[in-house]
Amino acid sequence: MTCIKGATPVNFAFVEMPSRLIDRAVDQIAGLPGVGRRTALRLALHLLGRNEEDVRRFTEAIQDMKEGVLSCSTCGNLGEEEVCSICLDDRRDPSRIAVVEDLRDLLAIESTGHFKGRYHVLGGVISPMDGVGPADLRVESLLMRVGDAEVKELIFALPTTMEGDTTAFYINKRLQNTEVEVTTLARGVAVGDELQYADELTLIRSLQQRLPYSATSNSSAP
Ligand SMILES: [Zn+2]
Repeated sequence: MTCIKGATPVNFAFVEMPSRLIDRAVDQIAGLPGVGRRTALRLALHLLGRNEEDVRRFTEAIQDMKEGVLSCSTCGNLGEEEVCSICLDDRRDPSRIAVVEDLRDLLAIESTGHFKGRYHVLGGVISPMDGVGPADLRVESLLMRVGDAEVKELIFALPTTMEGDTTAFYINKRLQNTEVEVTTLARGVAVGDELQYADELTLIRSLQQRLPYSATSNSSAP
């Protein structure tokens, strides 16, 4: 590709497509998060170049996923049954529930293989800027689960953002009159980080939440 200094790249938002059908496909693809019209056009042209069978498999996979995937009626995890495999697994500790924002965070914790409790997927975090309030999240069903005598500990595994903190604060407040122990993931200097590059807040939290040295080498599952 020749790059002329000072030249402005084509703005595909204003370019008229040679076909209404391409335009419609680009519109749909560009509606996906993080995909601009330039990338959407590249993907649309790529799909156009594939054979019909490939494209049918592609659209069928998306359609089948939309129709077949269910939210677990207990924890909000995704699966293909009314109750998910984690909730049905009786080898998992029902007394500990990790509260996560969405499936990606659940998968991240699962990938460690070090959490044997269960989950509650909120489906987002409280964000007044985006118009997301507690009623838009699975908060009430979480409180109902906590009401169950079996649940002893709730672990906030939420994003370390203002929205994550607001959500934890709100849920914790709603749990005031319960016996459940509420904990949160430790915050501090990440593994492999150099102290001089850590931000001030992270360093302060790391100091406040310091651990006995012996605990830092203990990697047993909770
Ligand atoms: Zn479940």
